[in-house]
Amino acid sequence: MIRFEAASKSYGETRVLADLDLVVEEGELLVLLGESGSGKTTALKMVNRLVDPTAGRVLVAGRPVDEQPLVELRRSIGYVFQRFGLFPHMTIADNIGIAPRLAGWERGRIAKRVDELLELVALDRGMRSRHPRMLSGGQQQRVGLARALALEPRIMLLDEPFGALDPMSRDVLQIEYKKLHERLALTTVMVTHDMVEALTLADRIAVLSKGRIVRIGAPADLLRDPGDPVVEALLSTPIHQLARLESLRSTGEG
Ligand code: ADP
Repeated sequence: MIRFEAASKSYGETRVLADLDLVVEEGELLVLLGESGSGKTTALKMVNRLVDPTAGRVLVAGRPVDEQPLVELRRSIGYVFQRFGLFPHMTIADNIGIAPRLAGWERGRIAKRVDELLELVALDRGMRSRHPRMLSGGQQQRVGLARALALEPRIMLLDEPFGALDPMSRDVLQIEYKKLHERLALTTVMVTHDMVEALTLADRIAVLSKGRIVRIGAPADLLRDPGDPVVEALLSTPIHQLARLESLRSTGEG
């Protein structure tokens, strides 16, 4: 479980996150949704201490994150970047095996784990010795996921993980990630500005605006009752698109 208690962050005079109170339940897939600059990434990075709050605190598994040894904390939390964040000069196997290597595993155990992880993210073992540039965006993000899962974290933090992918790869990976999340009983916090992605993947969506949560609820709750102009605005684009598609289709039928 992840708990934000009045977590705030300021840079100088500018408050980018204000009194964030939020509990992410064990096994939940929670999406932080909002426009660029609303504070999503700042909140996400507080969990693994890439950012420390200027006030308030964050707890993981009941313990304040700043009272846990940093290496242990980071090892128990997988982190996936938007732009994959793979090391270009390293092979796929070496990229996936980074965390086990840093944790001092011996070579045979790392090799075995890399094979398991390739299978988990549905990549061919033949990819082991390739370099990231030889892979498609979707394949590179599978490697990013495999790398984040290497030490069997209970928590996954995903920062716009599918944002840089073409729509088809995005669709496939979204569905596969949701399955992985369930199969491995992960607790996931995912950042996105894509309302459709949030609606289709999340157990709950926390909508951020100007560093505050303006609405939190299950996708069906937000659809039924947006409850805030920001949520309405975020919903309006997909709803218009859907209406236009429907109208095109009925024109075609007529
Ligand atoms: P989001 O992920 O929703 O796009 P961020 O959490 O990345 O938003 O950023 C929230 C705000 O904080 C933005 O206005 C951003 O410019 C500002 N910010 C983020 N990191 C820093 C930093 N290191 N120094 C100053 N301002 C920052």
